[in-house]
Amino acid sequence: MNAPLTAAVRPAPLDLPVVAEPAWVADFPILARPVRNRRLAYLDNGATTQKPQAVIQALADFYEQSNANIHRGVHWLSQHATDLYEQARSRVAGLLNAPDSDDVIFVRGTTEAINLVAQTWGQTLGPGDEILVTEMEHHSNIVPWQLLCARTGAILRHARITDAGELDLDDFRACLGPRTRLVAIAHVSNALGTVNPVAELIQLAHEAGALVLVDGAQAVAHDTVDVQALGCDFYAFSGHKIYGPTGIGALYVRASILQGLPPWQGGGDMIHTVSFAGSTWAEGPQRFEAGTPNIAGATALGAAIEYVRGIGLPVIARHESALLAEATERLCELPGVRLVGTARHKTGVLSFLVDGIHPHDLGTILDTEGVAIRAGHHCAMPLMTRLGIPGTARASFALYNTRADIDALVAGVRKAQKLFGV
Ligand code: PLP
Repeated sequence: MNAPLTAAVRPAPLDLPVVAEPAWVADFPILARPVRNRRLAYLDNGATTQKPQAVIQALADFYEQSNANIHRGVHWLSQHATDLYEQARSRVAGLLNAPDSDDVIFVRGTTEAINLVAQTWGQTLGPGDEILVTEMEHHSNIVPWQLLCARTGAILRHARITDAGELDLDDFRACLGPRTRLVAIAHVSNALGTVNPVAELIQLAHEAGALVLVDGAQAVAHDTVDVQALGCDFYAFSGHKIYGPTGIGALYVRASILQGLPPWQGGGDMIHTVSFAGSTWAEGPQRFEAGTPNIAGATALGAAIEYVRGIGLPVIARHESALLAEATERLCELPGVRLVGTARHKTGVLSFLVDGIHPHDLGTILDTEGVAIRAGHHCAMPLMTRLGIPGTARASFALYNTRADIDALVAGVRKAQKLFGV
């Protein structure tokens, strides 16, 4: 009889994809800096990604060569800056396969995008109307709806998840009803890595007469997104999670909806005419971009999109799924490690618990080894309540992570177990 396989002799499953050493690691200067006298293993990409030289350069170039205010200027530099800003809008439209760049509103990030929808489209809601979210949402996709419900008398409902961290489709269907006006769902869960079947959810929501907002914060950097194929009505993401700067993001709005949306912030640039008798509004996305926007940030986001598309999202997806598979396999070999979130379709995120070690302690010990992970509730407190845990340790992957990062993570967890005697 064969001896049982122990962790030491356990062979890699035949279908475990191979983690390649990507050439583009060298594009990220910060990865070369030591942290705590160690090689940095940056595994906190769900929180924010590092920036390639091309993005850093685009920011510097803007201020060195192109800085001026946009849309209002008659001079060359202003027109040049306007062209760069609008080119960035086209790049976002290209990333999402939006039909037109006028379907893209620049915002500060996902949080602002969702608040924009809540405060504009949300004005159409009345008492008894329903908004449906899921148990795995980030606070950004819960709290704006709670505020909206408090203003309008609408009701916030949530669909349950399974113990594996997948959406319970039967419960989702049961939550949809004649009063459902909006379904707001994460494309990818930031705490679990679950990839939701958004195309199917959108179809179900539309059949019930509801619109759909997709929170794409954890999706756009990891695989191809096509808002036309998905059929969603709103799609939100943050630039800093796709190798762009902080303070810039985008909201796609279906053109037929965008045309009818009232403005949300008043000021320069969002008007057509202003008089003391009243004002009229600009057409298209400008109606929602009051004041001087983050012009440099938008331009650098455009550079980030070009960078990512230059490598290719399918290539990135393959690399990251190999990382996720290997990291999952190797962490599970350690005694006392429990994965949180074992959905069949996952990307980018590995949440786990180690018996006898609080996630914060684990995060602190890993930090001494140069390994940056996140520990806590990941801005998903209702999810943690559902799972009956205060938080998790989370390693989240990006295109520049390598096997060396997984080695450092696993060695760091072992060290923590030794220190805690577990
Ligand atoms: N939604 C999800 C799923 C997220 O992971 C995050 C950030 O972690 C957000 C929304 C909020 O993004 P931001 O803070 O960039 O607005």
